[in-house]
Amino acid sequence: AVLKDSYWQGEVHYLRKNGEERVSWTGISATRSRTGKVQNLIIIVSDITERKVIERRIHKLAYFDPLTGLPNRSQMHERLDQMVTSARQSNTHIAVLFLDLDRFKPINDSMGHPAGDRVLKEVANRLQNCIKRQDLVSRMSGDEFTIALSDQKSADSAANTAVKVGERILHALQQPFFIEQRELFLTGSIGIAIFPHDGQTVTELLKNSDMAMYHAKDDGRNNVQFFDEHMNKKAVELLEIENDLRYAIERNELELYYQPQYATADCRMQGVEALLRWHHGDKGMVPPGNFIPIIEDTGLIIPIGEWVLRQACTDMAKWQKSGLAIDRIAINVSARQFKQPGFINLVQEVIEETGIDPHQLELELTESILIDDLEHTLDVLNRLRAMGVRMAIDDFGTGYSSLNYLKQFPVDTLKIDQSFIRSLPHNTDDAQITRTIISMAHNLGLGVIAEGVETKEQLEFLQQTQCEEIQGFYFSKPIPASQLIEYVTQRTPSIES
Ligand code: C2E
Ligand code: MG
Ligand code: MG
Repeated sequence: AVLKDSYWQGEVHYLRKNGEERVSWTGISATRSRTGKVQNLIIIVSDITERKVIERRIHKLAYFDPLTGLPNRSQMHERLDQMVTSARQSNTHIAVLFLDLDRFKPINDSMGHPAGDRVLKEVANRLQNCIKRQDLVSRMSGDEFTIALSDQKSADSAANTAVKVGERILHALQQPFFIEQRELFLTGSIGIAIFPHDGQTVTELLKNSDMAMYHAKDDGRNNVQFFDEHMNKKAVELLEIENDLRYAIERNELELYYQPQYATADCRMQGVEALLRWHHGDKGMVPPGNFIPIIEDTGLIIPIGEWVLRQACTDMAKWQKSGLAIDRIAINVSARQFKQPGFINLVQEVIEETGIDPHQLELELTESILIDDLEHTLDVLNRLRAMGVRMAIDDFGTGYSSLNYLKQFPVDTLKIDQSFIRSLPHNTDDAQITRTIISMAHNLGLGVIAEGVETKEQLEFLQQTQCEEIQGFYFSKPIPASQLIEYVTQRTPSIES
């Protein structure tokens, strides 16, 4: 710049001989000869280190709460505004939680402000432990705090995350505070607003989450409320289901149903798939679609998945002892379960415990398992294969299957998703996709099974296209273990049935 314009100025950081770091404002001017060649540089350096320190302190005072060190209201506004702008661009959602401590004032009044300050500091610490690094916690004023959770994929997932974080905060607040040799107890009321559902701007979001917080106070404090009534109902339901699921195993509310799978050519039964059922005390039977995502989310899939594996293999062992001709049992495995470090050991343990032949056990995995963390997945699959366990890819065609993976992964069977089977044989697109999957599977040396076969026409189409196996209501719905025994002993299904 100096050579070109003869002048430059700017901030220069430099070290003194004693190693001390200083900041200066520096101007450099060049003097030139008559021919324009730079002859001298005149450099003027003013040390601004002290000014910078003061600036930083002012910034801190202006943007941070001196007591808790959390961002204050002005910074909250600014950063939430940035979150809103980027959420608008990326079509994501934000949850804003407004927290007000319940009955904080009496603590302040009876124990004095220094004690109150200590409580607030401790609250700020606990709040920070309840959130992830990218989330924003701030102190709005007195005993009011806000938490913003960005990057939520949908309004529903924003609501779910918000409820979870909200519950976590209430729980953290309920732990006793030890202040001046006394044990204090606190609770909080939390209101939630979701962007863009409940407000398009920072002001609206804060106003509406604040309003929701007052509902929480009206509702007896120590609880979480959404601005939107509808979301409240859903959140309450979700929490109830989650809570009830925690006790589902102990209360014996889980049961496995079995759906037979048949060879397409001669309609002989080849095996069964275990499908989980939950008998809820008041709600009756809850279908797996309604609770599997919840148990995946909460980690309950680990104990429940273990229960399924053990129960299914125990049933299988029993059938074989009683001479029932069931040669294979398929069990659904969720992504979270598959990624669990102890998964292989669990499978091994259950096989040994129940004494079933590992070749008769098939694990149904989803495509989503296969796409992330390739190395780990491949390793687990290879070790399962080495144990003799079979693997099928469930709901094939709905995920991001790449031929490349299929070639690499030691899987045995593709299960064509029922969405392709539903409108066979009339829908030409689906017919084409189904044919393609079948021939692809054969080329890769894999077996294929079609799920959701409901009609004779579908069966005939699958016979013509040489899909090896089928499963669906045309032959049988999933049935309880007791009925399966009857079913297998009494009925030999044929094409005419
Ligand atoms: P999935 O593994 O693809 O299971 C097939 C689903 O299709 C079952 O629903 C079955 O009842 C249904 N189905 C079977 N034949 C037909 C048919 O002809 N027509 C129609 N319309 N549907 C048919 P279900 O039992 O409600 O299970 C839903 C999903 O829940 C399963 O899909 C599976 O992904 C999951 N799931 C079930 N049990 C377990 C489990 O123990 N562990 C895990 N991780 N997931 C499970
Ligand atoms: Mg399945
Ligand atoms: Mg399926």
